[in-house]
Amino acid sequence: MSSATRTPRASRRIAGLAAGAAATAGAAYWLMMSPYSQTLGPFPYRGPAGRRAVALTFDDGPNEPYTSQLADYLDREGIPATFFQVGRAVQRYPEVTTRLVSAGHVIGFHGNTHDFTRYLRRRTLAEDLEQGMAVFAQLGIRPALYRPPWLLRIPSLHPLLHNHGLQVVSGEFCHPLEVAQPSPERIARHALRTTHPGSIIIFHDGRDGKGGDRAATVKAVKLVVDRLREQSYSFVTVDRLLGVPAYQDPARPAFIASGARPDASR
Ligand SMILES: [Zn+2]
Repeated sequence: MSSATRTPRASRRIAGLAAGAAATAGAAYWLMMSPYSQTLGPFPYRGPAGRRAVALTFDDGPNEPYTSQLADYLDREGIPATFFQVGRAVQRYPEVTTRLVSAGHVIGFHGNTHDFTRYLRRRTLAEDLEQGMAVFAQLGIRPALYRPPWLLRIPSLHPLLHNHGLQVVSGEFCHPLEVAQPSPERIARHALRTTHPGSIIIFHDGRDGKGGDRAATVKAVKLVVDRLREQSYSFVTVDRLLGVPAYQDPARPAFIASGARPDASR
């Protein structure tokens, strides 16, 4: 066989494999990381549409000064929000988390490390859940709401969350490229296009629990709130929107299977 005949056939085969791999990756993404897929268990991304109410949610903090800037604004406007926080970021800014709770915002749990590979296996996921819940316990907080980092779900996620008394929550991204901080106007435009009665909008006040500039997000939130108010929307926390508890009894003994402790988290 000459290389002249082999090359097109080989490249067709490679193209076929690549298409197959892309399809597999697409299916895996839909199953495990899409905000909408319910295949691996219930994953609420919206509340009931009967009321003109939405939930503003903020992932990956606390991250200063942005989380406090958001809190200043939301508190001034009397808007309660839900912050899905990362354990190790809470260890960095415990006073910010405490302030949010005192102001009536709801703290949800968003993993302890936010390191992608920790959420792919049952053993490391179990450790991460225990370590993160221990971080919140040190502040006397026992979240009942959990949003998986990267929205990544593996088949053992739901049974593990059940052990910890956690309810999983999805949502819809304010902008697909919020991580790159496009202009506040662009973020707000996309968020408003996505918003309907019952929406759970996902913003990020941090980046994977590791800091990051979120100035555009802070400005975008103000634009979104102004516009939604003009449209007679009200703002509620996720627990109220879904009709579930925000917190568990902090006195209930923690679920510890691995013997993990928060200081073992690095
Ligand atoms: Zn996240």
